[in-house]
Amino acid sequence: MNKLIITEKPSVAMEIAKVLKINQRSDGYLYNDKYTISWAVGHLVELAEPKVYDQTYSKWNLNDLPIIPQKVQFVVKKGTKKQFQILKKQILKADSIICATDAGREGELIFRLIYRVVGKKKPIERLWVSSLTKQAIQAGFAALQPISNYNNLYAAAMSRQVSDWLVGLNATRALTMQAGGNTLLSVGRVQTPTLRLIAERYLAHINFKPEPFWQPELVMSYNNQQFKAVYFERLNDKNKAKEIVDSLQGITTTKLISVTNKERKEQPPLLYDLTGLQKKVNNLFGYSAKETLSIAQKLYEKKYITYPRTDSKHLTDDMKGTMKARLQNVGVGALQPAYETIEKIEFSKRYFNNNKVTDHHAIIPTNEPAKTLSVKENNVYLLIAASLIMAFMKPCIKLLTTYNFEPNGHKFLSKGTVVLQEGWRMAELFKNNDKEEDELLPKVPQNESVKIVAVKNQTKHTKAPPLLTVATLLALMENAGKLVEDDDEEILNKFGIGTPATRAGIIDVLFKRNYIANKGKSLIPIETGLMLYHLTKELYISNIEMTGNWEYKLKQIEAGEQPVIQFKQQIEAYTKKIVDEIKAMVVQRTDMEECPKCKQKKLLRKSKLLDCTNDGCDFQLWFTIAGKKITAKNIKDLMNNGHTAIIKGFKGKKGKFDTALKFDDNMKIKFNFK
Ligand SMILES: [Zn+2]
Repeated sequence: MNKLIITEKPSVAMEIAKVLKINQRSDGYLYNDKYTISWAVGHLVELAEPKVYDQTYSKWNLNDLPIIPQKVQFVVKKGTKKQFQILKKQILKADSIICATDAGREGELIFRLIYRVVGKKKPIERLWVSSLTKQAIQAGFAALQPISNYNNLYAAAMSRQVSDWLVGLNATRALTMQAGGNTLLSVGRVQTPTLRLIAERYLAHINFKPEPFWQPELVMSYNNQQFKAVYFERLNDKNKAKEIVDSLQGITTTKLISVTNKERKEQPPLLYDLTGLQKKVNNLFGYSAKETLSIAQKLYEKKYITYPRTDSKHLTDDMKGTMKARLQNVGVGALQPAYETIEKIEFSKRYFNNNKVTDHHAIIPTNEPAKTLSVKENNVYLLIAASLIMAFMKPCIKLLTTYNFEPNGHKFLSKGTVVLQEGWRMAELFKNNDKEEDELLPKVPQNESVKIVAVKNQTKHTKAPPLLTVATLLALMENAGKLVEDDDEEILNKFGIGTPATRAGIIDVLFKRNYIANKGKSLIPIETGLMLYHLTKELYISNIEMTGNWEYKLKQIEAGEQPVIQFKQQIEAYTKKIVDEIKAMVVQRTDMEECPKCKQKKLLRKSKLLDCTNDGCDFQLWFTIAGKKITAKNIKDLMNNGHTAIIKGFKGKKGKFDTALKFDDNMKIKFNFK
C-alpha cells in the first residue's frame, strides 16, 4: 500500500515527515515503505483567463460583457508547473491519498483543484489539525476523516473563488472601458467596499471644519499635590467662558462638595482570533496585517502557536487538559511573574465555549518551547503567550474617583483613577504609550478646602475624525455589518467585509494597485484610488451590506444550508446587474480639464500630451515639441494666455534654436519668432 500525503507547503510536509519517520528524499517528495509525502506551493491551479473561453475576449470590449462561462475551466499555474507534474505522477501512482493541506476553506480548495485537474479517482482521507506539534499530528493521523465530510467546505471555497472571479473580471472590464480605457480600474466584491471605508474616512477628515470651544480649567493644590479640575461642559460661547473665569478672579480656595467613587472591574481580554491579533500588533508595533499574518504563519510552522487563520476567540472543552502544560511552557522570562500569580487553573465559560468554535479555536501557544525567534516573531509570540496567561489571571480592579467643586456656583470636576488590583494587566508586556495616563488625585476629605492656584481659559478646537490605521480599518471591516441600518440582525452582527484569513490580502491588493498609501501610521487613498471611489460609491459593487450578505451565504453553503446552484444563479444575476449599472452610468471624470478649443470639460491629461476626448474636437498638445520637452510652466502659459516666453533648446535641421510658442487660430501649436 502506498499512501500519498499532500500538504499545502513544503515546511508542513517536513514536520509531518518527521513525526511519521518518512526519511527518504527525492526531487519534490519524501517517502518510506508506507507513505509518500509531497506538497503544493499555495495554489498550483487557477481559473483560466477569459480568452481561453473565447479568443475575442483577449481584447477588452464593453459589448462582450458580462462574460459568464457555462462551465468554468482550470489551468495549471505557469510558475509552479514542475511541482504540479511531480504531484500528478505521485497521485497516479498512489493507492490512496491523505489530504493534509491547511484545515480551512482555501486549504481545501488547493487540494481539490489539483485532484480535479489530475482527474483520476482514488480513495481520499482528510487530516484535520489545528497545530503541528507531534501530539497533534499523531492524534490527527489516528483520526483521519472521510474527505466527503468536507464536501460542503469545498463547495463554499469553489463558490467563493468563481463568484469573486466573475464579478471582479466583469466589473473591472466594464468600469475601465467606460472610463476611457486609459487607467486600469480594478473592482472587486471585497476590495471596493474596503477602499470605500478608507476614502470616506479620508474625505471626512480633510473636509472637517474645526469648531472652537472653551472649557475653563482650575489648577488646584491639596497637601502640596497639584491636580486639575475642568468645567463640567464644553462652551461654544467665548463670552460665557470669560464671564466664568472673571468671576473666579481673587478666589483662592474652594470646598470639595461631593465625591463619587466607582469601582471598575476589567476582565482579562478574550483570546486572539487573526483579526484581533492583527489589530493589536498594528496598534503596538505598526506591522501591516499581511506582515502579522506571515509572522503568525511562521510561528505556526515552527510549532509554537496553533493555526492562525481562525475567526474564533474561544477554546473547546476538550482542550482543558492541555492548559497546564501550555501555561508552564510560556510562564517563563518576562511572563514568569504574571504566571506565578495564577494560584489555581480555573476554566471560565468566557474562554471555553464549544458553541463559539467552528473550524479552528483561538490562537494560543503550544507546549513547544519557542527558540530562535526574530525580534518581530518574538513580539507577536509574546502577545499570544501573554493572552493565554491573562485568561487565567484575576480581573484588574480600578477605582474611578470624581471630585465635584463649585467655586462661586460654577461646577468643576476632577477625575482620577487608582488601581486597586493589577490582576491580568501584570502580563501586559507592551503598552500603547499614546494613551493618556490616568491622573492621580490626592485623597481629599469631603467639605475640605483646597487651594485654587490658577484659572485657565484656553481656546480649544474640535478634532477631525482620525484617518484610518490598519488596526481601525480591520475593526471596521470586522464590524462592517453594524454600519448598515435596518437589516437582519443575525447577518449583520456576524459578518463583515472579507474573512479573518483574507483581510490582510485585501488591504495589500489596494496598496499594490496604487489605490492607497501610508501616511505615517495612517492609510489614505491616492489619486486613482480616490477617482475609483468617486466612480463606484453609488454602485452596488461598493455596497457593504452586499459583501457581508455574500459572506453569510458562503457560510451557509459550508454548513450545507444553501444549495450551490441557487448561489450560482444569484451571482450570475448580480454580475449582469453590476455590468448594466456601469454601462448605464455617465462617467463624470474628476480629472478632466476644460479644452481651450471646444470649451468643454473633456480635456484629459495623459503622460505625453493633453488630449481632448470630445468626439467633435481635435485639440491635442504634445509635451515634446521639436525635440524639446516643455515645462509645466510653459503648458500653463499656453493654456492660460495662448503663448509662452522664449524657450531655449529646440532641435532643428540646422541645430539648436530658441523661440516662444503660441496657438494659431485653429489652436495648433506654432513657433513664435519675434
Ligand atoms: Zn476640445
